[in-house]
Amino acid sequence: MPHVITQSCCNDASCVYACPVNCIHPTPDEPGFATAEMLHIDPIACVDCGACVRACPVGAILPDTRLDSQQLPFVEINASHYPDRPADEKLPPTSKLAPVIPAAQVHVRRQPLTVAVVGSGPAAMYAADELLLQPGVQVNVFEKLPTPYGLVRAGVAPDHQNTKRVTQLFDRVASHRRFRFYLNVEVGKQLSHADLLGHHHAVVYAVGAPDDRRLNIEGMGLPGTGTATQMVAWINGHPDFADLPVDLGHERVVIIGNGNVALDVARLLTAAPGDLARTDIADHALHALRASGVREVVIAARRGPAHSAFTLPELIGLAGASDLVLDADDHRRVLGELATVSGSLAKQKLEILAGLGDDSTTPSRPRIRLAYQLTPKRILGQQRATGVEFSVTGTDETLRLDAGLVLTSIGYRGKLIRDLPFDEARAVVPNDEGRVIDPVAGQPIPGAYVAGWIKRGPTGFIGTNKSCSFQTVQALVADFNAGRLADPLAKPGALAKLVRERQPHAIDSAGWRAIDAAEIARGSGQGRPRNKFTDVADMLAAAAEAPQAWSARGLLAGILGR
Ligand code: NAP
Repeated sequence: MPHVITQSCCNDASCVYACPVNCIHPTPDEPGFATAEMLHIDPIACVDCGACVRACPVGAILPDTRLDSQQLPFVEINASHYPDRPADEKLPPTSKLAPVIPAAQVHVRRQPLTVAVVGSGPAAMYAADELLLQPGVQVNVFEKLPTPYGLVRAGVAPDHQNTKRVTQLFDRVASHRRFRFYLNVEVGKQLSHADLLGHHHAVVYAVGAPDDRRLNIEGMGLPGTGTATQMVAWINGHPDFADLPVDLGHERVVIIGNGNVALDVARLLTAAPGDLARTDIADHALHALRASGVREVVIAARRGPAHSAFTLPELIGLAGASDLVLDADDHRRVLGELATVSGSLAKQKLEILAGLGDDSTTPSRPRIRLAYQLTPKRILGQQRATGVEFSVTGTDETLRLDAGLVLTSIGYRGKLIRDLPFDEARAVVPNDEGRVIDPVAGQPIPGAYVAGWIKRGPTGFIGTNKSCSFQTVQALVADFNAGRLADPLAKPGALAKLVRERQPHAIDSAGWRAIDAAEIARGSGQGRPRNKFTDVADMLAAAAEAPQAWSARGLLAGILGR
């Protein structure tokens, strides 16, 4: 009874190090890890101990006897990573020990390492986790929203609750006695980089890629156009997007680009509202989806099926959950590419696409159509979008699709951080293994580091940030030990006072726990994991209910600097 890794694999590789027989690959030190769409358990070498199940932060691993019908394809996908061989021939186990960063040295005449982390999404929390493994290190996490965890809260689709389980790991990190939250505090506005360096040895920016890549074609910007990432934020109740004007009173939505974000949005727009009502979807989105007139979402890619940007696990999930179809031309394209494709991943995707239904049948529920070879030319419509004109890629042919809503889903984009250099072309902060590099001097800027999407660009999965943040923390601790990071000039207790002066409504861990508890309580009567606040004022009101003892303890810890 081997174990099987399923759709919500986050690639953080905790399972790799928990496995006593080294049967999970690729490992972070193997080629292919950076581009792997998921990890795989070798069914012959697996000893069925369940250690990986306990290590996985997103509940992606199950014994093969406990898979539901939609998860069954993952048995073959796990096995296909390994060479064909007799069932009694095990691959030699080699031990995989999690890499360990040499300890930050405690100097008699120096202050213990103190680090500010800006942002509170996966890269930030994995960096904090790694730092807190070090003796005596203090971590302060600054987040501009009153709620933490970045894209896990506001980007992961609400029907992917397993993926959101990684917040349990982040909650554990945040409960460490040497960890402090400064939520509702905007670095770059209420605090500068210099302010942070005055109170810390180093600052790790893990702020993600908050903008969208924009498609510069005529008509983008008309009412009825937008981006899929804005839509995801709206669905997830991000307070900055709660008032997004979303009109679902039309039969068709077109999404341009076919990455996993496009799949998320298409799935949510066609899902049964009754199913979404059991998730943490924002109330306003649920209300709009209940009244939606959308019957079809077309996901339009400019290249052919073998180049689909979505991952295999997400395609399998979508094919199992939604009415997913192709038209006759695209069916022919899939079969043509299947005959010539090289590369097992592309072949596996094509095989699933080849088995999809066609769009000539009358749908009984809203459906999703994957469309290929469509390069967007312009948005149609005068006062608002009425459709999209495409050219058929590589030909002079044009094709028009009527639509009342056109969303681009062509990737996230990093944003300039005040006081740091920025590489406009790549939309990342120039860095060397996480050390921010001054592009003029070609040297590291002392005390400035990056992790996550602002370091490497918007690719990978939640768990990809674990090894990314590990690399950054390794560089940071090495710099501290080498004496390259100056002790902060301010006294340890001064930070809490400075934050209170600049942002009287800053929220600490106790405040977040109060918001969290209130949201869970609001959802529990409705059979939902939580009912989110989408208004900052409501979040602040809930935080104000935090038991005084917690706040007082937090304040005291701030004054004492620990
Ligand atoms: P993405 O995977 O980079 O996909 C971008 C899509 O936009 C591609 O289809 C690309 O086509 C297309 N595109 C780019 N420029 C275009 C243009 N000018 N005209 C037309 N199409 C264009 O981006 P994403 O979907 O935003 O995902 C970002 C990252 O988050 C990915 O690593 C993704 O896997 C991850 N993510 C994961 C999950 C999950 O695991 N459930 C969910 C959401 C996001 P070409 O390939 O032709 O360039």
